[in-house]
Amino acid sequence: MQKIKVGQSSIFLIMLKKFFAIFNKREFLAIKSSTLNLTRKAISNPAMTVIKKLQKSGWDGFIVGGAVRDLLLNVKPKDFDIVTNAKPAEVKELFNRARIIGRRFRIVHVYIGGETIEVSTFRKRNIANEYDRHGRLLRDNVFGNIEEDVERRDLTINSLYYDPIAEKVLDYHNGISDLNKREIVIIGNSRKRLIEDPIRIIRIIRLAAKLNLLIPNNLKKEMKKGGNLLQNVPKARLSDDLLKLFVSGRSLQGFNYILEMELQDFIFPNLGVCLMEKKKGSKTLTKNGFLYTALKNLDERVNRNKKISLSFIFTVLFWEKINERRTDFLNSEISEYVAMQKAVNEVFYDISQNFYFQRKHLAGVKELCMLQVRFSKFFGKSPFSLVKHLRFPSALKLFELRVKLNEVEMESVMWWKEFSSSPDNKKACMLSTMKNKAGIYKSGRRRKRKKKGSIN
Ligand code: ATP
Ligand code: MG
Repeated sequence: MQKIKVGQSSIFLIMLKKFFAIFNKREFLAIKSSTLNLTRKAISNPAMTVIKKLQKSGWDGFIVGGAVRDLLLNVKPKDFDIVTNAKPAEVKELFNRARIIGRRFRIVHVYIGGETIEVSTFRKRNIANEYDRHGRLLRDNVFGNIEEDVERRDLTINSLYYDPIAEKVLDYHNGISDLNKREIVIIGNSRKRLIEDPIRIIRIIRLAAKLNLLIPNNLKKEMKKGGNLLQNVPKARLSDDLLKLFVSGRSLQGFNYILEMELQDFIFPNLGVCLMEKKKGSKTLTKNGFLYTALKNLDERVNRNKKISLSFIFTVLFWEKINERRTDFLNSEISEYVAMQKAVNEVFYDISQNFYFQRKHLAGVKELCMLQVRFSKFFGKSPFSLVKHLRFPSALKLFELRVKLNEVEMESVMWWKEFSSSPDNKKACMLSTMKNKAGIYKSGRRRKRKKKGSIN
């Protein structure tokens, strides 16, 4: 009897839960994708194959996040993220070439053709003690259902689920309407969601810049308020999102947002960036100034699908600080090379506390800075080898940008441009004219002889 009672009460409880679940379930719109001008033709073949396979095996399969958002804005998606109710092991089983990756949260990489398709399982926000003392969410790794998966996403425009087989888009948070308004709206309480994961501040800046979306003023205020929390974000994540911003083709707009919301000191603490341009008290980069021009050129290159160099971007970003330190060191009577080397090492040591650099980028920055010193050397083989250096074009570009900081004369830039494109005999002529003009050759030789003498 007792047993039956327990059973009955638990059945009753389950029914009660289900009953409330019906009421708790968020209303959502299922929109026919054709009415949104969204067709499955826009989906890559490998992504389509994955979805078909998932659905044939009885699982859900949706395209989610950035790809749906971008397609609805007529922007070519970077990749197609897929979400399903199948667990990672169940996904892996369906494909010949698939691998479960991630320690904290396992997702599956499916390899089809040359493409890697990321398949994740619906997740829910974890409400158990998983926050640090600043309120940052440490773990987000519990499987859930689609309704729970929606709630953990950052923006309404990033929470659209597209089923290309049923040809439907599920919209739980009026994401389509916000997309039409071209407005960034956070799901849930903005302040809480930014505290929970401050990297969202950078994501909003990145997406607003890239897609030309509006960040409402009250959201900007919250982002500015939450800026100090960026210091507490793991540096790999911060660096990752900042890099994405720099290569988005809209880095100038993104950087201006960073300045407008006064976030630069939290992103690169211990280091003033764009010192010259900030001093003028403006909240945006000075038009045609050093950083402005560099970022504008960078965006143009990205938009024309031209190769870009991250080392160059980093060098430009931190050049003013590097040069400031270099000048300090020069006053302590060490050679120009050593002063530059010390300055680069010191500045990058500071930045590396908060920003993750790949070794190759750091090596690139060092090289570009050291090459700057060689633009004032006109004796020996140095000028000839300088123009043959792999990084000479980038170094010359930086040299030219420095005109804007009044560190370099435009005449020098023109000289190096001409020198680099001249045949060897003309190069020799140009050098001897230059040496005579500046008296550099003589002093260089004299110094060398003196050195030899002192060794003997
Ligand atoms: P991009 O075009 O740059 O890839 P994206 O929005 O697709 O933009 P991803 O990092 O690929 O960015 O993330 C995929 C989706 O995962 C997002 O659209 C969003 O729904 C969710 N997401 C990513 N990062 C976060 C975050 N920090 N907080 C909440 N949701 C996130
Ligand atoms: Mg994406």
